[in-house]
Amino acid sequence: MPPDAPFDVELLIEARWVLPMSEDLPTLADHAVAIRAGRLLGPWPIAIARQRVNAQRVLRLDHHALLPGLVNAHNHAGMSLMRGFADDLPLMTWLNEHIWPAEAAHINPGFVADGTRLAIAEMLRSGTTTFADMYLAPEAAADVIGETGIRSQLCTPLIDFPTPWAEDFGTGLARTEALVARCQDHPLIGLAFGPHAPYTVGDDSLKRLREARERLDLPIQMHVHETADEVEQSLREHGKRPLRRLFEAGLLDARFQAVHMTQIDDEDLAIIAETGIQLVHCPQSNLKLASGFCPVERLRAMGVNIALGTDGAASNNDLDMFDEMRCAALLAKGVSGDAAALPAMATLAMATRDGAHALGLGKRVGQLREGYEADLIAVDLDELNTQPVHHPASAIVYAMNSRQVSHVWVAGRPKLVEGELCDIDVQELKRMAAARQRAMSHTRQQGEAQ
Ligand SMILES: [Zn+2]
Repeated sequence: MPPDAPFDVELLIEARWVLPMSEDLPTLADHAVAIRAGRLLGPWPIAIARQRVNAQRVLRLDHHALLPGLVNAHNHAGMSLMRGFADDLPLMTWLNEHIWPAEAAHINPGFVADGTRLAIAEMLRSGTTTFADMYLAPEAAADVIGETGIRSQLCTPLIDFPTPWAEDFGTGLARTEALVARCQDHPLIGLAFGPHAPYTVGDDSLKRLREARERLDLPIQMHVHETADEVEQSLREHGKRPLRRLFEAGLLDARFQAVHMTQIDDEDLAIIAETGIQLVHCPQSNLKLASGFCPVERLRAMGVNIALGTDGAASNNDLDMFDEMRCAALLAKGVSGDAAALPAMATLAMATRDGAHALGLGKRVGQLREGYEADLIAVDLDELNTQPVHHPASAIVYAMNSRQVSHVWVAGRPKLVEGELCDIDVQELKRMAAARQRAMSHTRQQGEAQ
């Protein structure tokens, strides 16, 4: 029989290593993947790939590892302009005395668009191809996501008190519905409800949220059990822990994404196991706000799916998922007292496959598998800090820095080539950030003078 004729692809990428991040595939040496119409083919050994495909272009990456694009499962992109605005404060002081007043003074769709553009540039530069966003003026964020071509789960900000986006919870729900209609055909944007936290959403609003979820069939992402104070306040006001309140409100299931979860007792563990909720771990934000530690290793042992997120740049203070991975791996060992906790490959899975699963995208992205959308990145391990390479996953999690991300593709489209962003003017972004900083500083000085 004659061999199968090669089929046409737009791009063949031949790499020193491929980390497919599929449970049934190991790290592969000298393999290739191809991109055709925004989707992946392969991986194959390089010699076989050359027979199988007829590529318009071949990219050889002799010192690089190819892996799925990273999934930052919790962010407030518009807050990037508040990076370093207020540091070294506990959560409630930081929110009540700094962040919320600054938002009241500055937030409008233009501010959110500028902050989101800065965040997306930083994320693409550092290898993130999907992010979950939760911030005011999500319509403005949707426009910037469309323009820059990153993948996103947009969580609409729902809270009981008035914000620059919605005067109350019900208005937020109505706006969510309108945004769903607007984005339903967008290939890169998915919508989710983003109720802020149990302490800012009353029982009546939880009931309305449940009704809206039945109607719109969207995931929910919410900050839950971020601090011990939050749990104590709920015990005082409701006689139960926040997670139990959400459970009794009928909101917990596999499409509920609980962010932070630094406070977990046995009753919480039973609820997590029964409902199959997704957890989003944000170790650097938790450390910086001294919020507590999520018991990642204990949860992993129970089979709970855990994604990784940076949280916003105002409490991190960057959106670098490589930094976040290393912090997560080290912290898990410190918290559990076990050096075997959260190994490098499991950490990488949190930032790719498990993150995609948490956002309901596990059948589309987060792995380098045939038919998956071509969201992938290349990292150049030919730097002193990553030599020699005994195990690529170890080099990536424990030694690499995000400047070694060389290439990024989202849905097969190049977003970063040889370390340069493709569609974003970096100099213009820096000018914008400086102008926003001057305006915020001026307003703060006026406030202090009064
Ligand atoms: Zn957050």
